[in-house]
Amino acid sequence: MGCELCGREIETTTHHLIPKNRKESPTVQLCQPCHKQVHATFTHHELRQEYDTIEALREAERLQSFVNWISRTDKTTIRVDDSERVRRWRD
Ligand SMILES: [Zn+2]
Ligand SMILES: [Zn+2]
Repeated sequence: MGCELCGREIETTTHHLIPKNRKESPTVQLCQPCHKQVHATFTHHELRQEYDTIEALREAERLQSFVNWISRTDKTTIRVDDSERVRRWRD
């Protein structure tokens, strides 16, 4: 199974949809770049309040340009400043 956000068939990490409540939180599998971007884009509060399902993350306007970009690359990792650069494109 690949990344549930960008759909690429690469190694994934576990994202807890409800941060700070990891024991009860449902989880999804995200590749490292998507995972990093999700946490660079949203605060824990926003994740818990608004983006606690994979559907909400997939539809999040603030992730669209990133997901578009990453899904067309073969990058398996990004650095934080890459993810900040992506944020600036968006703004
Ligand atoms: Zn991904
Ligand atoms: Zn996470």
